[in-house]
Amino acid sequence: MKLGFEESQSSYTSGSQNARAWTEAWVSAWAYCPHCGNVKIAAFPNNSPLADFFCAVCREEFELKSQKGNFGKSVADGAFKVKCERLAASNNPNLFLLNCDLKSLAVVNLFIVPKHFFVREIIEERKPLAATARRAGWIGSNILLGRVPESGKIRIVQNGVIRQKELVLAEWQRTLFLRSESPETRGWLLDVMKCVDSLGKRDFTLEEVYAFERHLGDLYPGNQNVKPKIRQQLQYLRDRGFIEFISRGHYRLR
Ligand SMILES: [Zn+2]
Repeated sequence: MKLGFEESQSSYTSGSQNARAWTEAWVSAWAYCPHCGNVKIAAFPNNSPLADFFCAVCREEFELKSQKGNFGKSVADGAFKVKCERLAASNNPNLFLLNCDLKSLAVVNLFIVPKHFFVREIIEERKPLAATARRAGWIGSNILLGRVPESGKIRIVQNGVIRQKELVLAEWQRTLFLRSESPETRGWLLDVMKCVDSLGKRDFTLEEVYAFERHLGDLYPGNQNVKPKIRQQLQYLRDRGFIEFISRGHYRLR
């Protein structure tokens, strides 16, 4: 993997359109499939509504979002309805997020959110476009990156440093168990994972996760049994080998 864009590409003038062309060409040239490890992924021949790339070996699909600055808590994405409809579909795309430096014409950060981290809760409906807009009434979506647990943001390039492919593939495998659950079930699971993340340590207690009772209750206003729900998620994560049980009420991230 080489982080710079091709010399021949710099003949483009300026504007986001060109940045898009550069980053797409870069992904075609250098990105590998994080699911099966295939050395290349291919661009879809025509503009597909949701996916930009696919792996010819395992058929995983990928969408690419690129921008100059770091990604914040939310990223604008395609049509809200289509996004929601595809949540449970097998070809729902994984999302590549790429930051580039347009001065040095190079990739600075690249991370991927595997599709099994996409649940209804992280897709926000945007306001319909104004009547004066070209696509008046069109409703887009935001991906709420701030609600995705760290294990769902797999770094391939971090601050200009290429991470080992073996690490990336291992991190990808670590959460694949989520695919066997429906998007509805995964919502709670991911939110509890996010709470565990925010404790910022490997060893944690049930009491510490219970401290998020109010926060989780706000996210799921209909649920009156937040504590049992938390225990249920931790048990599930333990059964899948994501965390281990140390002693009564004590857990460790694996
Ligand atoms: Zn693959």
